[in-house]
Amino acid sequence: MSARKGSASKTRKSRARKKAAPKKKVTARKKAASRKSAGRKALGKAGSRTARKAKDRTPSQRRVFFFGNGRADGHAGMKEILGGKGANLAEMTSLGIPVPPGFTISTNVCAEFNRRGQKLPVAVKADVMTALARVEQLMGLRFGDPDRPLLVAIRSGARASMPGMMDTVLNLGLNDRTVVGLAELAGERFAFDSYRRFIQMYGDVVLGVSHDRFEHRLDAEKETRGVQDDTDLSGADLRRVVADYLEIVREVTHEPFPQDPREQLWGAIGAVFGSWENQRAIAYRRINDIPDEWGTAVNVQSMVFGNMGDDCATGVAFTRNPSTGERNFYGEYLKNAQGEDVVAGIRTPQPINESSRAADTMTLPTLEGEMPKAYKELVRIYKRLEKHYRDMQDIEFTIQDGTLWLLQTRNGKRTTGAAVRIAVDMARERLITREEAILRVDANSLDHLLHPTIDRSRAPEVIARGLPASPGAAVGEVVFSAETAEMRAKGGAKVILVRTETSPEDIVGMHAAEGILTAKGGMTSHAAVVARGMGKSCVAGCGVLAINYDQASMRIGEHLIREGDVITIDGSSGEVMLGQAPTVLPELGSSFSELMKWTDRVRVLRVRTNADTPQDAMVARNFGAEGIGLCRTEHMFFEPGRILAVRQMILAADLASREEALEKLLPMQRGDFEGIFRVMDGLPVTVRLLDPPLHEFLPQAEEDIQAVADSLGRSMGEIRHRLEALHEFNPMLGHRGCRLGITYPEIYAMQVRAITEAAVRVAADGVKVKPEIMIPLVSNERELKKLRKLAEGVIADVRREAGGSRVRPKIGTMIEVPRAALTADRIAQHADFFSFGTNDLTQMGYALSRDDSGNFLPQYVEDGLIDADPFVSIDIEGIGQLVRIGVERGRASRPDLKLGVCGEHGGDPASIHFFAEVGLDYVSCSPYRVPLARLAAAQAAILASSNSSPSSEPAKKRSK
Ligand code: PEP
Ligand code: MG
Repeated sequence: MSARKGSASKTRKSRARKKAAPKKKVTARKKAASRKSAGRKALGKAGSRTARKAKDRTPSQRRVFFFGNGRADGHAGMKEILGGKGANLAEMTSLGIPVPPGFTISTNVCAEFNRRGQKLPVAVKADVMTALARVEQLMGLRFGDPDRPLLVAIRSGARASMPGMMDTVLNLGLNDRTVVGLAELAGERFAFDSYRRFIQMYGDVVLGVSHDRFEHRLDAEKETRGVQDDTDLSGADLRRVVADYLEIVREVTHEPFPQDPREQLWGAIGAVFGSWENQRAIAYRRINDIPDEWGTAVNVQSMVFGNMGDDCATGVAFTRNPSTGERNFYGEYLKNAQGEDVVAGIRTPQPINESSRAADTMTLPTLEGEMPKAYKELVRIYKRLEKHYRDMQDIEFTIQDGTLWLLQTRNGKRTTGAAVRIAVDMARERLITREEAILRVDANSLDHLLHPTIDRSRAPEVIARGLPASPGAAVGEVVFSAETAEMRAKGGAKVILVRTETSPEDIVGMHAAEGILTAKGGMTSHAAVVARGMGKSCVAGCGVLAINYDQASMRIGEHLIREGDVITIDGSSGEVMLGQAPTVLPELGSSFSELMKWTDRVRVLRVRTNADTPQDAMVARNFGAEGIGLCRTEHMFFEPGRILAVRQMILAADLASREEALEKLLPMQRGDFEGIFRVMDGLPVTVRLLDPPLHEFLPQAEEDIQAVADSLGRSMGEIRHRLEALHEFNPMLGHRGCRLGITYPEIYAMQVRAITEAAVRVAADGVKVKPEIMIPLVSNERELKKLRKLAEGVIADVRREAGGSRVRPKIGTMIEVPRAALTADRIAQHADFFSFGTNDLTQMGYALSRDDSGNFLPQYVEDGLIDADPFVSIDIEGIGQLVRIGVERGRASRPDLKLGVCGEHGGDPASIHFFAEVGLDYVSCSPYRVPLARLAAAQAAILASSNSSPSSEPAKKRSK
């Protein structure tokens, strides 16, 4: 507060507060019956007429929804119409929680507004005025009244939370006359500070006057007065600032600042509806898959003030820790401040209680200590809200004159680790069921949880510390702007976005970056909240950073770090390191393993892994893989010491020299398989025979060609000639997969021998080995019949040589050519199992090159021509039909046929739901995706059983 304020003004202020403060929450918590009559009394004649009119409308016809004094037209289930914020304000009001009264203009009006050339329908305006009258009645204030002005906040609120993406206008209703009235009621300093904030917000959001113009003027005033903070400016100082702000608006818009509160109201409502279409909101919707047609609602709500003095405050809190999931009430607040000040990171927020303390807030007083009564009330309310919503809540509150008001509640964003812990804890607390706990965790996000963290024993020097705003380690090149982050990331670089603080404009750059580092801002700052939501590592409020944007560099103590230099940030500890830190696998907490156990009890789909080495197989097994669904043998061929033999095998001009090369490869392959079989003891292992086009192995460099020539005893010219003969124009549709087995049966024979011999050897050591031999790229059942016969012959030989081993590999095929899916009934007659190769099935079925479509597919997604890259998430409408046909026809001719998928889609949650629905037995995915596949499979089973009729059979587990 200003030091100039004398005792006379204090008395005036406290008198004024009594008048200006909204009716107390005691009224808001009265029982329903008394609320009804109080509400009726408060409404007066005009109000009851409209109340009747509004009552006559069905919720879908109604466009303005009132809430206040314990009564609300809407409820939490109406997010589609009221947006998340509006629906929850209505719900909280009905629960008797103190919420400033107001009303929500529905999302339907947003579409109408934008359709009608940004015009509000007249009928909506009439409904708004009626609802506003009800707010006036409840508050005992009038909109535009020079003596007792009602001020309102205009806020956006879409169905899905889009933090900071759309616009807000606070303190609306102030003008040259009402500011005088407000000054009388609440003091000059407060009134003019509110007015200057309003002009600035309205100027920026509605009139398009740059925010910076106002900020410069404010900074100039602070400089002239020799003060640091806005709060040190006096009423008279702010009066001057206001006069100049009004002048700035006139200068830029060539119009005076609108003085009519109604004009202000229509302007602000229009701007907030219009902000649905702003660039950052559009970008956010793209990133988060939010449909453009949803629109936003607009909430008009009576202002309550956290900046009226030292018994006022504003804050944000989470009912459990959003970073760790611990069951601690967790939050920050600022005394004598408006909500925007907390998020803007201008002052360091104070912890609300002891469990909310961070390294830099150790000595600050807490809300619990400073305002015990309001804190106690906040605790009572948060418990009520969490129990009511049965989920962790993110709440915004304001304390005016010691009285608590809730401005928002929503399901809180949380890190993936916290999501897992909260879901498991809540199930244990019997707040939700285990099934609900499983559905609560976003399967896609599990990926974040499994990423490596920093190896402390070998980490470089820590050069700075900030707040641990979002966990996980990130290593990358420093960039100082969102644009550079996006550009460099597109070029394949890993970047860390470093900013003084982030704003919604930075959203695309944040998405492109590996991690975010900011100099300012707390745990609820924009950077912290957005990074957590994205699952990105973030260190916020790292005050020692001295960033020089012009020179694209920053100084941290003695270190000068330029754009492009590599740093490491640890969002779990808040540390910043110079250079690249080595990383280690994370230790997953007990909640994670508990949740995974629960998923295994409900899922029907098995989860295998795609692994080519014993190391990968071990990682996957530790993550719960139930077998290997795809071991790509060719990956082993690239190892040093082998590639020459492989080239010899391919370039050999006759059978004898090819067999010579294969003799060298046999023991190597056998050793590989032995290692994998041992790791996967007791679990099935599908080994795929050689698949890719031969040109992938051919030598290009002179010295490589020379080496092959020498080893084969041929001339360079002969080898070149052979290379030309093997050249293909369209290798992906060429001499690959089983076609190699047909033309060079000795290659497949060697591989089948290596697999079977390895199996026989490990079985002799007591390993329970379950080998499966998979033949790729089959398009015609005769190919499979022939190759199966070949394989069976080799297997019989090996078993005989081993003196009658019990090892009996299964033989199956990939379904990855559309023709194979269509003729699956015939193919199944020669296969023990099918594994859908959805990568090639998509390539060939969609006519999209796996290697080149990245050049244009992103634009297809951007333009809305497709919903997702079909190589990431299966194209259910098209390629999905091929899978469905393959399943149906395959099983029709062979009911015991085992079915799986080993394309990349096996690790994509949306695709997994589809595979569960068509009745596959298993999915196979990369090792790190195994947990998410287990979770997605469980979610699919739960959703399927909740959609099925009560009489339908519960899903039965299929055998491995
Ligand atoms: C596939 O095509 O889906 C598959 C798994 O095989 P690859 O990716 O090796 O071609
Ligand atoms: Mg394939």
